[in-house]
Amino acid sequence: MAVKKIIFTLLVAVPALSLQEDSGFYVVSTNFVKFVEKYKVKSPLQVFAGKALVTLTASERDDLVNAVHENQSFCAGVTDVSDEYMKSENKENFLQEFSASQSPNFVSDNYEIKHETQVRSLIDLVDSAKYEEFIRKYIAFPDRYSNSETGKQASEYLKVYSQNLAKTHGRNDVDVQEVSAGKNYLQKTIYARIPGTDPSLPGVLIGGHMDTLRNNKPGADDDASGATVVAELYRAVLESGMKFKRDIYFTYYAAEEVGLVGSNVMAKQFKASDVKLRGVLQFDMVGYNAEEPLPMHFVEDNVSDELTKFTKDLAVRYLGLKTREMGTTLCNYECSDHASWNRQGYPSAFPFESSFDNMNHKIHTAKDTMDTVNVEHAMRFVKLGAAWIAEMGEAQ
Ligand SMILES: [Zn+2]
Repeated sequence: MAVKKIIFTLLVAVPALSLQEDSGFYVVSTNFVKFVEKYKVKSPLQVFAGKALVTLTASERDDLVNAVHENQSFCAGVTDVSDEYMKSENKENFLQEFSASQSPNFVSDNYEIKHETQVRSLIDLVDSAKYEEFIRKYIAFPDRYSNSETGKQASEYLKVYSQNLAKTHGRNDVDVQEVSAGKNYLQKTIYARIPGTDPSLPGVLIGGHMDTLRNNKPGADDDASGATVVAELYRAVLESGMKFKRDIYFTYYAAEEVGLVGSNVMAKQFKASDVKLRGVLQFDMVGYNAEEPLPMHFVEDNVSDELTKFTKDLAVRYLGLKTREMGTTLCNYECSDHASWNRQGYPSAFPFESSFDNMNHKIHTAKDTMDTVNVEHAMRFVKLGAAWIAEMGEAQ
């Protein structure tokens, strides 16, 4: 106990001096702390409302994420808050402030279904063969770990894909950008922005994460399946030649598995530059079909209720699902990139492949191959994304 107290005091007083080079500050669910033996001697700096603030080296963080997966099989598991914590002027209440930021007050947007013709024509253009072609190429990277050479190559692959497709369609106006995920990561977040006709309006953004954990994890379902939804929608939108009133962002996040790092940096940058978005749609794991009576689920925490309801309305109208065919599920922690946007006050929604209980238990193992991905199931999410883009982006 005494030893723990000393560590606690040292870390709070002089965190920079007592941390190893690759150490960072992370928020984890207190439910996860028990998964790592090391925590028995390394007490959290703070505990509040089911969350713990801890310091971890990169390898401890990876151990924790792996342990969470072995026990609970869900994406991510930690939130990297190193930057926020170091800058905080109220460190002793860090977790209280962090928790408060998870419940922003959204201004109502009056989302409305009114672009049926454009939605139907975009849905006609999405293509399961193209989806399958893309995902098979993308998972050929043996490892997309965010601080590995192949993880960096995956990011460059997505950048070149985005640039080349714009060029093929003669779209000089499409803006492809990379966003650094910080000095600890070789991999960068990539996004393509298709400019809207009215730049004064808030844009819309869809995204999935490009990375996997360290070492030979094909990550077909988690999350090549979601990144491929983004890639296929980008392709279909360019092929359609459709104009939108609002900017549309097609985003591949770096370094999600290690603490939502890429999306956190991007969301903070957007907020700091006053980039307005009326909604963010997250695709993380859309390929595994648990053959449940409910074919689609929606994550209910760290999202906007209003945008989630609207996204369900789109599934009813354009996918022919009944409201009662859509389940709801709670992560109970920041389980994917939508949470980064949510904390910066951007409304998000997160449709998911299955219920929490029946999710794909092969993720984060070498068995997360194409055998876990049902392309027809994934195409439900592509079609939902097409409807979402055309309605939210106000297709012309
Ligand atoms: Zn994931």
